[in-house]
Amino acid sequence: MKKISCQEVLDQLWEYLDEEARAELCSEINEHLERCHDCQVEVDSLRMTVRIFRCEDHTPVPVLLSDKLRAAMSAIDKDPDPDAR
Ligand SMILES: [Zn+2]
Repeated sequence: MKKISCQEVLDQLWEYLDEEARAELCSEINEHLERCHDCQVEVDSLRMTVRIFRCEDHTPVPVLLSDKLRAAMSAIDKDPDPDAR
C-alpha cells in the first residue's frame, strides 16, 4: 500500500473534499487520516469552511459579513496587542 505524507494530504484536501474526488484518492487520504491526528484536524476545519462557502452560494448575504470582517481586521491593524510592548 502506497503511503502518502501529510503534505500530500494537505495538497489534495480540496480535491478530497470535492464530491467528484477519485475513490482512489479518498482511500489514500482516509488511510492517512486514521493514523494522523494533525491532518484530521485540518480536514475537519477545511470541511467546515467548504460548507460555509457552499451555503453562501445559495444565500447571497455575505456583504454584511465581509464588512464585519474588514472592520475587525482594520481594528487589529490599528490596535496592536498591548501585551506585546
Ligand atoms: Zn498527516
